Amino acid sequence: MAFIELHNLTKQFGPTTVVSPLNLAVERGEFLSVLGPSGCGKTTTLRMIAGFEAPSGGSIKIDGVDITRTPPSKRKIGIVFQSYALFPNMSVAQNIGYGLQIAKLSKQAIQQRVDEMLAIIHMQEFANRYPHQLSGGQQQRVALARALAIRPQVLLLDEPLSALDAKIRVSLRQDIRSIQRELGITAIYVTHDQEEALSLSDRVLIMQKGEVEQLGTPAEIYNNPKTSFVAQFVGTLNTLEATLHDAKRGILQFGSQQFEVSDSFDVALQGSKVQVALRPERLSLNGAASQNQLHGVVKEQMLLGPIVRFHIEVEQQLLFVDVFNDTNVSRLPKRGEAVVVNFAPHDCLVLER
Ligand code: ATP
Repeated sequence: MAFIELHNLTKQFGPTTVVSPLNLAVERGEFLSVLGPSGCGKTTTLRMIAGFEAPSGGSIKIDGVDITRTPPSKRKIGIVFQSYALFPNMSVAQNIGYGLQIAKLSKQAIQQRVDEMLAIIHMQEFANRYPHQLSGGQQQRVALARALAIRPQVLLLDEPLSALDAKIRVSLRQDIRSIQRELGITAIYVTHDQEEALSLSDRVLIMQKGEVEQLGTPAEIYNNPKTSFVAQFVGTLNTLEATLHDAKRGILQFGSQQFEVSDSFDVALQGSKVQVALRPERLSLNGAASQNQLHGVVKEQMLLGPIVRFHIEVEQQLLFVDVFNDTNVSRLPKRGEAVVVNFAPHDCLVLER
């Protein structure tokens, strides 16, 4: 039995379904990210788990107990929001101890727990400061400590890093992950940032329009996207549509050119359309003739720090090709030059057969 179980969970606002029957099992101690574009239903799902939003159907169980109709205050859930939502007139220590006071713990027990939490977030010396005297990153640490102080069964995080600048975001996300591991708490983390989801999680759930597109480990999601939406969303920038020229041998027709994939297809599919994803870092320019070759023209060349991204027009479609920015940049092809794009058949990800 999983620790968190969502069974056919749905949410409608009037006639609009924003979460379609959602079934999900999260293991004890797991860090699961829910990733998807704005408006896909991530926050609504989290709010149903927290109890702020009543589901239109389905059930929620935590540790085997059905909490679908349990009021939020009775669910042992800690929540961290994008806006830190600290009480401005309370000190850091008072903010962290707030939930414990509501739960009527003794003064001594509260003090002990607050000290413990301050140590976990490495902010012992800030106990008496007020929220306006803290940076955004520090405020979010306090919000995290406040959520964890009540020793929740589950930690829910709704885009907790979105309001912070890039550097703080990266360091705080590592802190969140190591604290979550240290405490062994089960966490669900909502984000629209693919890098965040892939780098932090045990598993990632990709949502689109209230439905699950794919659920898997970061490596499964990145290496084997099941749909073109997932492929695009997690950074596989090239998707192209080709026609099955030789189903058995996996030879595809793309405009006037052909390439090979390592899959073979049912002969009945001969002549049908196939979507293929190609990751920019798996393509090369003017390389080995043993691989697939597509002829094209350089349209653009962009320096992105460690890599140079080429935009190559092939059969009236742009393909992105990433090349390491090494010392031989002067030998790289220039805008307007004819090039050959190379890739191996096993680097072609066949989507949505
Ligand atoms: P974002 O990343 O922008 O926060 P999200 O994936 O978290 O997006 P939700 O906030 O869950 O998306 O919203 C899903 C859909 O439900 C949206 O189209 C939103 O407009 C709609 N919605 C959310 N709350 C309500 C409400 N109280 N009444 C009506 N529609 C709502």
